[in-house]
Amino acid sequence: MSGFVHLVGAGPGDPGLLTVAGLRALERAEVVVHDRLGTEQLLPLCHPRAELLNAGKSPGRQAMTQDEINAALVEHGLRGRRVVRLKGGDPFVFGRGGEEAEALAAAGVEYAVVPGITSAIAAPAYAGIPVTHRGVATSFTVVTGHEDPTKPSEQTDWAALARVPGTLVVLMGMGRLGGIAEALIAGGRSPDEPVGVVQWGTTPRQRRLVATLSTVAARVAEEGLGSPAVVVVGPVASLAGTIGWLERRPLMGRTVVVTRARAQASELSDRLRALGADVVELPVIRIAPVDSSPAIDAALDALGDYRLVVLTSVNGVDALFARLAERGRDARSLPPEATVVAIGPATAERLAAHGVRADLVPERFVAEGILESLAGRDLQGVPVLVARARGSRPELVDGLRARGAAVDEVELYEAVSEPADPDALAAALAADHLTFTASSTVRSFMALLGPADRQALGAGPRVVSIGPITSDTARAEGLEVHAEATEFTIPGLVDALLSDVGSREGA
Ligand code: SAH
Repeated sequence: MSGFVHLVGAGPGDPGLLTVAGLRALERAEVVVHDRLGTEQLLPLCHPRAELLNAGKSPGRQAMTQDEINAALVEHGLRGRRVVRLKGGDPFVFGRGGEEAEALAAAGVEYAVVPGITSAIAAPAYAGIPVTHRGVATSFTVVTGHEDPTKPSEQTDWAALARVPGTLVVLMGMGRLGGIAEALIAGGRSPDEPVGVVQWGTTPRQRRLVATLSTVAARVAEEGLGSPAVVVVGPVASLAGTIGWLERRPLMGRTVVVTRARAQASELSDRLRALGADVVELPVIRIAPVDSSPAIDAALDALGDYRLVVLTSVNGVDALFARLAERGRDARSLPPEATVVAIGPATAERLAAHGVRADLVPERFVAEGILESLAGRDLQGVPVLVARARGSRPELVDGLRARGAAVDEVELYEAVSEPADPDALAAALAADHLTFTASSTVRSFMALLGPADRQALGAGPRVVSIGPITSDTARAEGLEVHAEATEFTIPGLVDALLSDVGSREGA
């Protein structure tokens, strides 16, 4: 049996810039050999059982040599496995992908190349620099700056490159930037020619500056820019000021921590990333179903008897329908004459996904809001089902009972603490903002912290909460709450974060 190796370009950093073909290969791979930089953000897309081999240098470990990488690809290929060799940018642009393909060809292993978006064009694009521009540049040349421009042995002829019209894009040039600029001036380019430098292009850490050939080395040193960066030489670089778009995003350059359960983090993370934030996902809880109990069984068996069914979270909806599905039942088990209440729009939307339209969504998306929304109703003797999380606050059920309702409260799931990844926790403590979407996430987060961590939090990230209940829990745990959503939803939380950032900038 023969395996198959895909040499896949990961793109320059933004995970959205992986190609569809690359994604398919990655999802199906049994072995993924990846570099350390530029590919890490794609590893969560791999199959959970895929074997991941880090070919790059990492703390306490030497990088694999090119021969070792070639040998590993050949070996796994010959053992019949589906392999992805994941490389930053494009595999054939200064990526040594050609050598890997040669090794595979020589060993008779089948392979294919999936090109990637190279940083040579993507980093400039994300900085607002088009590498060609009508009337300004009709060509671009991509060159490595790795070689020493002062040594005669070098292969790069900078004097010749200086004479080539059009844009010059230099990769791996930061170590020798001063020498390269001098060589280009000596070769005939104007000392005033614009130069753009884009570090960490396409990522939330992106930084760019625009200088000239004569000033760029000093400016880069002044502003502390370093590798990895793309250097763009030519008049197109001065377009960054008008075309630049990434830095206009309101959360650009800010690190925001998402503490939600992994399965639920993406909606919030995606919104934050679209606003430019560097998102640290630190899932501090996980949603787990609770064991079946006679109370749950009885409630589900008697579902047809309830006249009011209250769902206080998306997780509650999922848990309810999962239990019904286990019994071979579905939404039709809910009595048509029952009033279905969803605590907020996300819960209503999830109900709709299961085929149930919520009759009532309160104006305030908290338990008290549900009671308010039922104010006009006679609840005396009305059979009510409240499906919710273990350890929920008693206010809702107490309030319904006080009005004479016959309430069955069933706890279908619980939020259990997740052990934290130490790197993610360290990143979280150094972040600009911490977000909390529920009291359970506050408690689990605080439980992860040692005394020194707690101390550090005082001057640390600004805390943003989804609503007053979560804020109260945060304060009870000793946190200062800097911003609180006025609408108790994920979009509301994001708005609160944005206004916190805005008000501080205005100050
Ligand atoms: N195959 C890669 C290039 C590998 S060489 C590609 O096609 O992009 C490594 C060099 O690429 C770095 O020194 C830097 O010059 C550049 N580079 C890679 N990713 C980058 C990024 N996100 N931002 C700026 N430069 C980057």
